Amino acid sequence: MNYLLRDNYVRKYHTGKNRLMHRIIWEESNGPVPDGFELHHINGDEQDNRLENLQMLSPSDHQRLHKGWIRDGEGNWLKPCPICKQYKNIDTEYYRRKRGPLALTYGGIGECRTCNKIQSRKYQAENIELIKAKRKAYYQDNKEKLRKKMAQYYYKNKDSISTNSKLRYYGKDREMILAKNREYRRKNRDKINAQARDKRAITKKQQENMESVL
Ligand SMILES: [Zn+2]
Ligand SMILES: [Zn+2]
Repeated sequence: MNYLLRDNYVRKYHTGKNRLMHRIIWEESNGPVPDGFELHHINGDEQDNRLENLQMLSPSDHQRLHKGWIRDGEGNWLKPCPICKQYKNIDTEYYRRKRGPLALTYGGIGECRTCNKIQSRKYQAENIELIKAKRKAYYQDNKEKLRKKMAQYYYKNKDSISTNSKLRYYGKDREMILAKNREYRRKNRDKINAQARDKRAITKKQQENMESVL
């Protein structure tokens, strides 16, 4: 005998157990549903248990279908953006969750990137003074921490950072940096000149090559 419970699924007493009708039908043709998979009613009618209306899915894919996401020809998930209403790729056209256990596996958060950018630009334009004040307050409150971080960064990358860039961040120690730079150039004059010569030679060669092509 078949019967319905409040969840709308048809059930049947089968092989000594009360079982879901759509499971019985699917398993008759395909064997047991593997652990970690679910069956879905393709047309949305939970009582339409024809075999062709049943589909085996992973729980996350199943959830996505029920949220109204669709799949394109290449198997990418497309989600309708709540703002522009267009279907967009969850991996490339939405931002990902930044934290939490779903951070790496679950794209498609909120509105699409385009709408997100438009919104945040609008917000910034409308609240520019507030944002500036907040930024300033944050800098004031975390001055020491930020300076320390910057100093660590510069120490770590001291060989690859240009003097100009150092000057920008170490305005206070400007004279010291310039003096060091002068000292370095004085000591390594020959090396620096040679480097400059090489560079000029290369550019000249490039120029000649170009001309020979023309
Ligand atoms: Zn379903
Ligand atoms: Zn959008």
